[in-house]
Amino acid sequence: MEDKKTKVLIIGSGPAGFTAGIYASRANLRPILFEGEQPGGQLTQTTEIENFPGYPDGVQGMQMMNELRDQAVRFGTQVLSRTITEVHFSERPFRCTDDRGEVYTAETVIICTGASAKYLGLPDEEKYRGLGVSACATCDGFFYRKKDVAVVGGGDTACEEALYLSTLCRKVYMIVRKDYLRASKVMRQRVMDKENIEILFRCNTVGLFGEDGVEGARIVRDMGTELEERFDIAIEGFFLAIGHKPNTDIFKGQIEVDELGYIKTEAPYTSTNVPGVFAAGDCADPIYRQAVTSAGTGCRAALDAERFLVDHNIL
Ligand code: NDP
Repeated sequence: MEDKKTKVLIIGSGPAGFTAGIYASRANLRPILFEGEQPGGQLTQTTEIENFPGYPDGVQGMQMMNELRDQAVRFGTQVLSRTITEVHFSERPFRCTDDRGEVYTAETVIICTGASAKYLGLPDEEKYRGLGVSACATCDGFFYRKKDVAVVGGGDTACEEALYLSTLCRKVYMIVRKDYLRASKVMRQRVMDKENIEILFRCNTVGLFGEDGVEGARIVRDMGTELEERFDIAIEGFFLAIGHKPNTDIFKGQIEVDELGYIKTEAPYTSTNVPGVFAAGDCADPIYRQAVTSAGTGCRAALDAERFLVDHNIL
């Protein structure tokens, strides 16, 4: 089978991937973009986005991603509904294999594979996935109106999710493993001020129960100490907000990642330790993780790739 060739191969289809596509295609680089398993990325799981500049009335996540996709396609980005499953970065042109076994060769690669929500790893999370277990309050909170729910985690995301749910639900428990919230002061205060949010400090979830869906969670306070106490809470929704994991498994051993798996880039550029491979968006960003910052790094990665091609006389 003949290899398919491109100057710029983009892996991932969130704001970073599509923005890289817009810039690379406007520079006439005819990029190929692989959408991956979740076309449009994490934002397709949210409802309204209110903080992306240029949308004074907010925009639905799905709509924004469709429009970014259309914009990238308009200038000539070839968007493929496939997933890259294997990469070889040891020599250029790089070789990337998709889920159909087709091999693409690329002079530059822009990795925009994003991040995924973390789960606790309890078998019950699998058992009740879609039946009460969720990692996105804004996507699924609607189903729990006037019901009791729990949010796991004590960071900004957990506080944000709990606050959002507190406007819909009767009661929101926050299950926090330490005796403090790690979140920023303003978020901590907002959560404390909400009458229908109860914070369960020093608590871990060890299981869920229910007939056809979640009806409660089994909690242990002060686990492993002599104060250990076990109790159940009655809830119908169990929301995880314990951070994210970068989607970088297929790159391990090929490019440098940090101890959490985030791709290391050479700030202020998007270059990785492999010349010609760039990374943008949440897969390389443990800190900001915003749609607008992802889009910004996608732009930078496309400009960095273009500069690389010029410097290597490939254009
Ligand atoms: P964080 O890593 O900040 O917080 C994760 C939380 O989950 C912590 O409370 C952590 O507990 C807890 N946790 C992790 N693993 C487990 C586990 N296995 N069992 C129980 N609890 C667990 O992640 P966030 O997603 O909240 O935030 C990531 C970044 O994004 C931060 O920099 C944050 O400030 C930022 N952000 C900013 C927002 C804003 O400004 N509006 C909104 C959302 C995020 P512990 O503290 O014990 O480690």
